[in-house]
Amino acid sequence: MTHQQPILNTSPKVSDEIRQTTCYMCACRCGINVHMKDGKVAYIEGNRDHPVNKGVLCAKGSAGIMQVNAPSRLKAPMIRTGPRGSGQYKEISWDEALAIAVGWLEPVRHEAPEQLAFFTGRDQSQSFTSFWAQSFGTPNYAAHGGFCSVNMATAGIYTMGGAFWEFGQPDWDHTKLFMLFGVAEDHDSNPIKMGLGKIKKRGARVIGVNPIRSGYNAIADEWVGITPGTDGLFILSMIHVLMKAGKIDLDYLSRYTNAPVLVNAAEGPDKGLF
Ligand code: SF4
Repeated sequence: MTHQQPILNTSPKVSDEIRQTTCYMCACRCGINVHMKDGKVAYIEGNRDHPVNKGVLCAKGSAGIMQVNAPSRLKAPMIRTGPRGSGQYKEISWDEALAIAVGWLEPVRHEAPEQLAFFTGRDQSQSFTSFWAQSFGTPNYAAHGGFCSVNMATAGIYTMGGAFWEFGQPDWDHTKLFMLFGVAEDHDSNPIKMGLGKIKKRGARVIGVNPIRSGYNAIADEWVGITPGTDGLFILSMIHVLMKAGKIDLDYLSRYTNAPVLVNAAEGPDKGLF
C-alpha cells in the first residue's frame, strides 16, 4: 500500500471578489485592491495601475483592514456611564444620541451660535462638517487638517504648483536639489518615498531640515537640525542671501508668480519686501 502525501495548497485563493478603491490610512490615497471573501475584507494589496503608488502599499495601508474588521471599532453611539476616565460606556441608539446633541446645541444656537467651537478629527467629509458649522451659524470651526496635511498641501501649491499626493508632485525627473522642511513623515508616505528613491538614484542632492533626523532626513545627504519654530527665519535668510547674490530669477517671478503683488512700493527702510 502506498502512502499518499496530503497536497498542500501553498497559494490558497484569498478572495472571491476584488474591489478597487483608495487607501485613507494617511492622506496620499494610494490605489488599493481590496480582496473580499464571503462579503468581508480579507486582504488589501497595492494597485499596480494606480498613478500615485504604482502598487506600493505601506504597513499602515495593510493595517487598513482593521478599519472594518477590528472588534474594538465603534459600531454605534456610546454614552459614558461611569466617572470620566473610568472607561465605562453603554451603547445607545442614534435617536437617543441625536436627542442628547440637540439638547446641548439648541439653546446655544438660539442665544449665540458663535459660542460653539466645532472641531472634527481626520475624515473625508470636512466640506460637510464646515457646511454644517456654517449652517449652525458659527465661524469657529476647524478640523485636524489645519494642523497637519492641509499645511503641507498649501506649501506644495505655493512652491511647486500642486499639493502632494494625487494633485501634483515635485518634478522627480529633473530636480537637482531637493529640500525637505519639517515633513510629517506619515504623510505622503509612498509617493515621497518612491520620489526620494528616484532622485537619489539619479544622484540629486537631498537636504533635510528638521529638528529630528528620522525617516526621510536619515537618507538626506545633508541634515539641518534646526531649532523648532525657526524654519521661516532660515528660509527668509536664504532668500536674502540669494537676492544679494543676484541669484533669483526676477523675470520668472514677475511673469509666473504672485511676487509682484507682494511688493510694497512704499519707500523707506523696512517698508518693502524686495
Ligand atoms: S502611504 Fe500607506 S497609508 Fe498612506 S495612502 Fe498609501 S498605502 Fe495608505
